Amino acid sequence: MKTTIVWVRRDLRIGDNAALDYAAGRGAVLPVFVWDPAADGDWLPGAASRVWLHHALRDLAAAYRAMGLRLLVCRGETIATLADVLRRSGADAVVWNRSYEPAAIATSTAVKSAVRAAGAEARSFPGAVLHEPPTITNRQGLPFKVFTAFWKYCAALPPPAPLPAPATLTAPAGKPRGVSIDSLELLPRIRWDRPMLNDWTVSAAGARAELEAFVNGSVEDYADGRDRPAVRGTSRLSAYLHFGQLTAAEIMARARRGNQPASGGAEAFVRQLYWRDFAHHLLYHFPHMPERALNASFDRFPWAESADGDGLLAAWQRGETGYPLVDAGMRELWATGYMHNRVRMNVASFLVKHLLIHWRAGQSWFWDTLVDADLANNAMGWQWAAGCGVDAAPYFRIFNPVLQGERFDPAADYIARWVPELSALPAKWRHKPAAASAAILREGGVRLGRDYPRPVVDHQEARASALAAFATLKARA
Ligand code: FAD
Repeated sequence: MKTTIVWVRRDLRIGDNAALDYAAGRGAVLPVFVWDPAADGDWLPGAASRVWLHHALRDLAAAYRAMGLRLLVCRGETIATLADVLRRSGADAVVWNRSYEPAAIATSTAVKSAVRAAGAEARSFPGAVLHEPPTITNRQGLPFKVFTAFWKYCAALPPPAPLPAPATLTAPAGKPRGVSIDSLELLPRIRWDRPMLNDWTVSAAGARAELEAFVNGSVEDYADGRDRPAVRGTSRLSAYLHFGQLTAAEIMARARRGNQPASGGAEAFVRQLYWRDFAHHLLYHFPHMPERALNASFDRFPWAESADGDGLLAAWQRGETGYPLVDAGMRELWATGYMHNRVRMNVASFLVKHLLIHWRAGQSWFWDTLVDADLANNAMGWQWAAGCGVDAAPYFRIFNPVLQGERFDPAADYIARWVPELSALPAKWRHKPAAASAAILREGGVRLGRDYPRPVVDHQEARASALAAFATLKARA
């Protein structure tokens, strides 16, 4: 019987898996995961992502075990390792699902050559986006740079149909040795990850439970609820999507309840799935997106002279800026590995516009601390916030974090949850404790500068500095 190696990357699932489906139809299946830190170039998964990966791999191994298969886990250089497994297993094909990140594309191109040179079949399949980036171009055959045009084009295409999970899988005769998941040392030595995981069930079942809870609950109200950080108005599926525990096609089909016409809430949600596709589209066509501004004039932007903004970067990272919405977001991130999108936009804007710290410093912090850290989404999000991407927020539009808090967290519940030292203040003053009277602060038990920081910058002054910095770009254009 033929044996096919399924090279597992960030597609840690059994269902809607084109490579696995093909392998199952060919004969025996040997799923192989290779931990090769060098393969990701500068973008080795960050600390929070590694924790997620550890648990997602264990869950996938258990799912394969239940079907009579072993997930072979290896550590080493990807091409040499796969070539070795190919030789030792007697397999005659290697298959995988495509990724659209620059380092992953380079690795899979090299794998394809090595496998073919060894006389075996090498074949890749569409990856976990709704529409593959190379297939989407505008009338001039160029990549889309504006989301609305991209979205309109994609929405007119037939939606991808998710594949069912193979009913049975056949184990191969050969049993090459691998290593344990624990030996990959994805978990930190000092176990800071335990409280973070209280928030998540890192498994395919956990992903499905989140999806079901969302489509049977908040999806109806998504168009409004998605902007309310104090409520569970969004799906919280981003990490499952990043690691391929669920696909966008599966989520879209479930949100639309198959072919039934979708509600406004479900369609607003599906549109966000297309933002994810757009990010992958941009990264595929502009592979320098994580490193360089897509709007090249920003290469000359006068960022703060010291990379850490004279300590302000650390204040931002710790959630000690004196701006409660920003601090709540940064603390939510540290505690849970997640931050609500509305708050991500605000903390990012604050870092680049109020503190004039380079967007790449924020991108790196998110990369290390988010469980859903995703090269495409993160780079697009930061370039959007900094105003230097394509289809980005204009640089001159500067969020006022106090007004944003009052608008999107009107009862200041989100702030109370993540900045508990302000929770005894009336909601109005939780948004702006620095503006509260001495009596109100005393009653709320807050000593500014001791229990909670004074604002590290004045909003109006910071706004003026940001606009002046931006004006230098226009002056030199
Ligand atoms: P939902 O609102 O339920 O949306 C469903 C899915 O659509 C998400 O899981 C996500 O895959 C996709 N999506 C939603 N909004 C966006 C968006 N604006 N851009 C791209 N995809 C989107 N998302 C990541 O997955 N990884 C990141 O590293 C990341 N970094 C970001 C950095 C910044 C500065 C900003 C402003 C946004 C970033 N985002 C990132 C996008 C967005 O904040 C998250 O995808 C979203 O908050 C995840 O929560 P959810 O699953 O509940 O989203």
